[in-house]
Amino acid sequence: MSEILSIVRKHNEFRNSCLNMQVSENFLSMEAKEALSSDMASRYSLEIDGKEAYGGAKYSEEVLHTTEKLVSSLYGSKFAEVRPIGGHIASEIVLLSLVSRKDNVLSIPEANGGYTGYEGGYLPQMLGFKNYHIPYDDATQEIRFENLEKLMQVTSPNLLVLGQSFFVRHYDLKRIMEICEPHGTKIAYDGSHVMGLIAGKAFQKDVLEYCDVLFGSTHKSFFGPQGGIILTNDEDIYNTMSRNITWRSMDNYHPSRVAALGVAAEEMTRSGEKYASLVVSNSHSLGKELNDLGIGVRFSPWFSETHQIIVDSHSLNKSGLDYRSFSERLEENGIIVDREGRVGTAEISRYGFNNMHEIAELMQRAVKGERVKDQVRELLSQISLKY
Ligand SMILES: *Cc1c(COP(=O)(O)O)cnc(C)c1O
Repeated sequence: MSEILSIVRKHNEFRNSCLNMQVSENFLSMEAKEALSSDMASRYSLEIDGKEAYGGAKYSEEVLHTTEKLVSSLYGSKFAEVRPIGGHIASEIVLLSLVSRKDNVLSIPEANGGYTGYEGGYLPQMLGFKNYHIPYDDATQEIRFENLEKLMQVTSPNLLVLGQSFFVRHYDLKRIMEICEPHGTKIAYDGSHVMGLIAGKAFQKDVLEYCDVLFGSTHKSFFGPQGGIILTNDEDIYNTMSRNITWRSMDNYHPSRVAALGVAAEEMTRSGEKYASLVVSNSHSLGKELNDLGIGVRFSPWFSETHQIIVDSHSLNKSGLDYRSFSERLEENGIIVDREGRVGTAEISRYGFNNMHEIAELMQRAVKGERVKDQVRELLSQISLKY
């Protein structure tokens, strides 16, 4: 047997026996996996001026256009671009379309959980724009509006990008729009982490009322294959973005990935609201339960409005742990979180889990050094995909 395939099988067995609580990941249904590994995975499909450039692509193109319709109706947007092969590529396409060289852009600083790609050496250097940090209050997870107004006057940015990788609180979008309007500044919302929650109307469901563009990953709180989407109601922006895709940001859009995204969008249309509201209530409960058990979670008493909570590093330090050792102890016991202090509830909510006390207790015992692997397995054996 292939050496690689045997490693893949080990991975599957390993991750299927774990409680997966990584904030950037989710689980693909059997139907979505079938689409992803279908014959489309090795085919080409490309339309130039509405005409197909490849033979044999009629079904791939039907899937592409049906998925665009499904995704735009899910988000209530006029236009949906489903071809970007990742959230980062989606962001690159949006920036290419809305910003020119030497323009100014504002985004949430990495130090406050903003996405690293918007920091100086990455997208700004590549695309030639200048990035400034949106003034942000870490303790309350809110934008400092008075300071933002001053910065807007000094920089007159062409674009303001919202969205974070450490993302627990909504933005006051109406206020941001009022601040941006007089400067003619466009607003893009990088919802990579929260796309599933927006689709399920459990978080910032009105993004497109206030922002010009909503974009992000399709595999974090949105339970699709790894990829990206862009949504807008603005036809000019949509057309500019389309021109910035083929031969500029990418070529092949991976038809089997779009097919799997379409399947996930159908699932999201069916049960997204139940899923997303459970995700959000689970995050709040898990934050509270962990905090009560002595694993400090930031932003008590509200903890989180999304699919992620952020463990307090100072509280871990008191028991001689840091984010890495915290994550490693959990992993030894079959609970997977990242090494940066974030804990996610998206995937466990897909299984309909709602007993956060039970999970918090297992986590706390594992962190103390107890072996709870068998209890984790036992818990997993009782469940199956619900949403
Ligand atoms: C994860 C993330 C990205 C990158 O998405 P990929 O799908 O991994 O390319 C972009 N922006 C934010 C805020 C993210 O959290």
